[in-house]
Amino acid sequence: MQKYQNVVNGELAEPVESHKIFNPANGDLLGLAPISTENEVEQAVSAARDAQLAWARRSDKERAEITARIAKVLEENSEYLANLITREQGKPLSGPGSRFEMQACVGWTQGPASLELTPEVVYEDDERKDTLHRVPLGVVAAIAPWNWPLMIAIWQIIPAIRMGNTVVLKPSEYTPIATLEMVRLINQVLPPGVLNTITGDGRIGSKLTSHPDIDKIMFTGSEATGRRIIEASTHNLAPITLELGGNDAAIVLPGTNAGAIAEGLFWGAFLNMGQTCACIKRLYVHEDDYEAVMSSLGNIASQMTIGDGTDENVLIGPLQNKMQYEKVRELVADARANQCDVREFGDTPDKGYFLPVTLVGDINDGQRLVDEEQFGPALPIVRYRDLNAAVASANRLPAALGASVWADDPATAAETASRLEAGTIWINQHGAIHPMVPFGGNKASGYGCEFGLEGLKAVTQARVISLKK
Ligand code: NAD
Repeated sequence: MQKYQNVVNGELAEPVESHKIFNPANGDLLGLAPISTENEVEQAVSAARDAQLAWARRSDKERAEITARIAKVLEENSEYLANLITREQGKPLSGPGSRFEMQACVGWTQGPASLELTPEVVYEDDERKDTLHRVPLGVVAAIAPWNWPLMIAIWQIIPAIRMGNTVVLKPSEYTPIATLEMVRLINQVLPPGVLNTITGDGRIGSKLTSHPDIDKIMFTGSEATGRRIIEASTHNLAPITLELGGNDAAIVLPGTNAGAIAEGLFWGAFLNMGQTCACIKRLYVHEDDYEAVMSSLGNIASQMTIGDGTDENVLIGPLQNKMQYEKVRELVADARANQCDVREFGDTPDKGYFLPVTLVGDINDGQRLVDEEQFGPALPIVRYRDLNAAVASANRLPAALGASVWADDPATAAETASRLEAGTIWINQHGAIHPMVPFGGNKASGYGCEFGLEGLKAVTQARVISLKK
């Protein structure tokens, strides 16, 4: 059986303990993933610490070139890694699945490679000149979730490395294997110690985030864990980039052509079987357009093939794990018990964590499927009569990662967009993130920004050189 290993100080670490990783599509055993010990956390942090100064002293140009080489390594190995993602995480190879995730990994590596944070003269007069420099923070702890395991790890590690930090990454215990393989490959072009991994669940994660030698924490995951990480950071005072859960609302403005927007709405909601932070998780549709939107979405849903994502025809795979599968089933059962209109599409295989694509109508604010983050393929569609009430509905929950407005005329949509509370408000698209465009949550969806120049700044600290003339 294939055994996967952590990388510490540029070397593969022989695991003391391991656990089995199964394919969510069929229950097949995929391989053994290591579980780090506390001692291994120490080793990884100290390898990152030892490597950091020399890495930071390399020229900015050199680090940019090495980052570009990482993009090449990812490109050359994308088919291998995409296959591993599909068998471990579940998303299909085809469509917006694991090949798409690998393209994103390449794009989000090329982005920081092409950017530069130059020193900025913030004040100058006859007597003084003050220049703000951006210097690395030191050792970054990166904690990743299981939904887009490689892409989100790349979002965390690449800007950090690009700016002269070193990294200890902990992938999710549900999806460690493909990430470990990616890190092993990336290490071929990095000096030892710049990028290290540890593995295990939250207990090992908290050893890392509370470690006194950590200078920055990049966390993507649930709100509950986010709160624990803030507490852990009292041990090291590390600044945190906190990317938490979402419960994104999408509002379709009255009179919008349902057929024209249906595909965008569909993938906005069902990307990665809904297991995406910035998916549409609540859809608000004017009562006059409700049936048209329901049936357009139903038409698309009925064309989807659900199954093992290694089959090139499959566009909808399994949920990643039992916990998530049960959670979505429970929310749909709750909606059904409350006489909602539950419409299910697609044949699901007998084995594996498969669920049908599910549209849930006749549902209102306050019901569980609307108010809780489902993180799965069940979309509540809420009717509204008054647009102001729909805006209030969209803004009423603590989560505020993304939102979107859909309309035939984007100018009309812009006014509604300006009233929505979220880190990003998209118009006629949803979840359309880009390596050059800052992304982050408002309110309970977290704080700090990733991507673009803002993302690079977030893994640096400001240092001012103040000159008396
Ligand atoms: P999770 O919070 O359960 O786990 C995330 C990671 O944190 C895992 O690696 C886990 O092992 C680790 N962890 C758990 N407890 C810890 C602790 N006490 N200290 C340190 N690390 C700990 O989240 P998940 O279920 O893997 O991911 C799903 C959630 O992530 C959803 O809410 C989703 O919306 C959110 N998410 C947000 C974004 C974003 O960019 N805002 C992106 C993807 C996912």
